[in-house]
Amino acid sequence: MTEAALSHVFDYPPQRIKREVDFETVIIGAGLSGIGAAIRLIREGLGDFVILEKGIDAGGTWQDNTYPGLTVDIPSLSYSFSFEQNPFWSSLYAPGPEMKAYVDHCVTKYGVRPHMRYNMEVADATYDEQRNVWVTRTKSGATFTSRYLVSATGFLTIPKLPVIEGIEKFKGKVMHTGRWDHSYDLTGKRVGFIGTGATGIQAVPEIADKVKSIDVYQRTAIWLLPKKEMPFSPRWQAAFAKVPGLQRLARLVVIFFTDIIMINLLVFNKYFGFVGKKLERICVNHIRNQVKDPATQEALIPTYDFGCKRPSFTSKFYPVFNRENASLVTNPIDRITENAIVTKDGTVREIDTLICATGFEVFQKGSVPTYKLVGKNGLDISDFWEENRYQAFEGSTVPNFPNFFMMFGPYSVCTASWFGMIDTQSKHLVRCLKAAKKRHANYIEIKKSANDANFQKVQSRTKLTIFKAGNCATSNSYYFDRHGDSPTIRPTLGFVHWLTSRFFSMNNYIFDSK
Ligand code: NAP
Repeated sequence: MTEAALSHVFDYPPQRIKREVDFETVIIGAGLSGIGAAIRLIREGLGDFVILEKGIDAGGTWQDNTYPGLTVDIPSLSYSFSFEQNPFWSSLYAPGPEMKAYVDHCVTKYGVRPHMRYNMEVADATYDEQRNVWVTRTKSGATFTSRYLVSATGFLTIPKLPVIEGIEKFKGKVMHTGRWDHSYDLTGKRVGFIGTGATGIQAVPEIADKVKSIDVYQRTAIWLLPKKEMPFSPRWQAAFAKVPGLQRLARLVVIFFTDIIMINLLVFNKYFGFVGKKLERICVNHIRNQVKDPATQEALIPTYDFGCKRPSFTSKFYPVFNRENASLVTNPIDRITENAIVTKDGTVREIDTLICATGFEVFQKGSVPTYKLVGKNGLDISDFWEENRYQAFEGSTVPNFPNFFMMFGPYSVCTASWFGMIDTQSKHLVRCLKAAKKRHANYIEIKKSANDANFQKVQSRTKLTIFKAGNCATSNSYYFDRHGDSPTIRPTLGFVHWLTSRFFSMNNYIFDSK
């Protein structure tokens, strides 16, 4: 796209066209992490940026996922920005549409909306060494140049359809939960439902009483804790809104407990494995209390340690299997025909609708980031990780990729709430950008030695994690990548990562002026 054309589309002031770059910063992705980065940039006076979003609105996960039963399964008190508490959550676990409304509120209140460019699916981003700029191209052919590039494409972005023989021959309706078709009426349909992850267990109970029949295909059982619905009454909401510090205190309590239990269990499993055993007992009792058929009870009990795979909360999923019209199928799927799912034991179950709650591509080549990223000397980040395993300094930056920052990078998450990661990664970003400004530099790159040391530190700690110390062999968990590493979780306490993001030394970086 020419500058004149860009000027027409985006109504640039003429002086911008004369600059070396279109924007100081390009952010890719308008999900929660892209919005979090944007708000921090604005608040720190670094507001010369654009956000390229492939969809038609902001929200990422909360824009794409609209399946029935969608609910936040981390308490909303912590699943929100620390600086924008919402006293009006309808319950401790807010429903999806409320979360989306919260995102929209933040985008408007913090002035992010004018920075958005929708329908801009990024194809590739390349570092131009001659000019010291990033050139980002969209699939529709638009080009954006920037000094800095921030990747915020998340990790639950690309829906994964199951690879099953014959699936393309199925003549009925096929839906992935990440792209729910609300115009399709499930009433009276015979449904094959594949997947029992955090999504499946929310959606199945919501549709079970509508459909004629539902066969739930479980490949790997999930640990599910009982969930106590906790609606916030108008009194609670008024208290949160009016009593100074009350909601902040409640948030801290929630973070303390979720992080202490979940993160210690995962990260310091060698010492806290006993907590997992206690939680397993609660889950098994939960199954036995809620499911009548003893064989179904047994089939629902996972065979790996609590925490190897993302657990969830619900008290609605198990009772579905007491219904006449529902069954749990654990015999592996052999193939799909025009109108049925056939399992390895030869059983043919006819269906009208196939629903896939089969998750997303996580730390697969081409999923993080979701576009081709080329740094210095033509180095593709996927090739670098393929050869050297997933790594990034503090989950943010990679040698040979100057002026490039990740919101969700390898080993960046170490709090139960995604917002903890948004805070640490956006803080890392603005500290670097401000440090560059202070040094009159326009080039910032992580030193190889700093990244190597950081990677070594992470690796030395993994032996304490559940992924190495626990029994995860049968978990089939997306926490593991193809190298056998677990780059989704940083083996550190959230509080430590929070401190590090505030105090890491800028000597880890090379600054230059080009
Ligand atoms: P997921 O955890 O990856 O689960 C996918 C499910 O599909 C698994 O049970 C998987 O079985 C099954 N599956 C995949 N391919 C299959 C095949 N070919 N045949 C049979 N089964 C197959 O995906 P998800 O449930 O969408 O959850 C993804 C993440 O979204 C969660 O971990 C969570 O982080 C997030 N989430 C968050 C919330 C929230 O409120 N915060 C709510 C929902 C989801 P295997 O286990 O054997 O692979």
